[in-house]
Amino acid sequence: MKTILNYINGNFVAPQTNAFLDNVNPSTGEIYSQIPKSGPSDVEDAVNKAEIAFKSWSDTTLEKRSEILTRIADLIEQNLDKLALAESTDNGKPLHLAKSVDIPRAAANFKFFAHALTQFYSESHESQGKDTINYTLRKPLGVVGCISPWNLPLYLLTWKIAPAIAAGNTVIAKPSEVTPMTAFLLCEICEKSGLPHGVLNMVHGLGPEAGQAIVEHPKIKAISFTGGTKTGESIARTAAPMFKKLSLELGGKNPNIIFADCDYEKMISTTLKSSFANQGQICLCGSRIFVEQVLYDKFKTDFVERVKDLKVGHPIEDNTDLGAVVSKSHLNKVKSYIDMAQQHPDMTVLCGGNMPELKQYPDGYYLKPCVIEVRDNQCQLNQEEIFGPVVSIMPFETEDEVLSMANDSAYGLSSTLWTQNLNRSMRMSQALETGIVWVNTWLNRDLRTPFGGTKQSGVGREGGFEALRFFTEPKNVCIEY
Ligand code: NAD
Repeated sequence: MKTILNYINGNFVAPQTNAFLDNVNPSTGEIYSQIPKSGPSDVEDAVNKAEIAFKSWSDTTLEKRSEILTRIADLIEQNLDKLALAESTDNGKPLHLAKSVDIPRAAANFKFFAHALTQFYSESHESQGKDTINYTLRKPLGVVGCISPWNLPLYLLTWKIAPAIAAGNTVIAKPSEVTPMTAFLLCEICEKSGLPHGVLNMVHGLGPEAGQAIVEHPKIKAISFTGGTKTGESIARTAAPMFKKLSLELGGKNPNIIFADCDYEKMISTTLKSSFANQGQICLCGSRIFVEQVLYDKFKTDFVERVKDLKVGHPIEDNTDLGAVVSKSHLNKVKSYIDMAQQHPDMTVLCGGNMPELKQYPDGYYLKPCVIEVRDNQCQLNQEEIFGPVVSIMPFETEDEVLSMANDSAYGLSSTLWTQNLNRSMRMSQALETGIVWVNTWLNRDLRTPFGGTKQSGVGREGGFEALRFFTEPKNVCIEY
């Protein structure tokens, strides 16, 4: 059985207490590796080493930093098959998805910030009539913390680590304890890439232990976190009174709004993906589907038929559309919403929601994609994040009505709009209370654009120069001549 180790100052080490946790393969339900159950003393050690490494890393030329980040990206690409298999085994996602999305994106994150750091600039302001010039320095913060979730493990972890080190910081990172494997493999890659020791330190373990120790460590200057809203709230409670910089990318309950004048084929094939890609475990999945009344019956019939055709199977098989849900406890959480809908007089389960029998893998965490018809956007199913292969559908009559239902949510991460009416798409994009609006597309990403949510979906934006600004402290210098 493979044992994952922490990576501190270039050394692969066991946690100081020598305690380990089981890591489960969700497609079989079997324990297949061990991960460190780290605590405050491991974080303390990592911070001390990262602090020492900061001096020379922050003085390293931009060209040199860019070269190392590019080398990490190249090594990720060269190890694509190995990393994709590890991600699929750890998370339950289809191998073809890990190969086409997760791992290429992890490489792209390093490549993007290898370029971006050479183009990042600071401002200067000439105060005319005062014989004064101001210029703004952008200094790296020091040691920063990066904490990531299980749904897109390497993709999201590298989305934080790459800009943090590009900007000259040193990092204490903690991947989800549910999916730690590719973070461990990334450390092997960083070791080969020539990244100086102490620049990236990976501390594995549970959120309330290793994660909390990172958040409350006085020498960690900023926390970049992606995960659940409740966890984000707890992190903010600890970090805000310490005046740490905080970037919080949290949950969502994203509306997918379909007008009758859309490109129907493109809409329905994209809606299958935006509903069930990665077993519906993407924060950007459109879990509330609203369909214009005149199209509703046709959509309902066609969509349910296509969802029934989706194949739930072992992640390694090429024709698998949905693999396993990430863990038993998550499966039970998702199932509890379906059970509730089955009892509810105002909800109708149109398909799925049951556990398919995969003879070879009776203990895997599989769930058939589920479509539930609801009558009221205020219902629990439309208001709470489920984060699994479950979507609701309901009709609407007018633009105003659907806009108010879309915005009637505690969350505000992303929305998707299907219409060929340009004026309507511009009007609605202005009015939707989400950080991201996709019109006639979904999960279409340009890494330069600001990424993040409003309301309980988070605080701050990642991506492009926004991320480099987050990981630097502006200092204004004012000179009178
Ligand atoms: P989670 O909040 O349970 O855990 C996320 C990470 O935080 C893990 O590494 C965990 O160990 C750590 N953690 C837990 N408690 C902590 C604490 N007290 N202090 C410090 N760290 C702690 O989330 P999850 O279940 O891993 O991921 C699913 C959630 O992530 C969903 O809500 C989803 O919407 C959200 N998500 C958001 C985005 C986005 O970009 N907005 C992207 C992906 C996932």
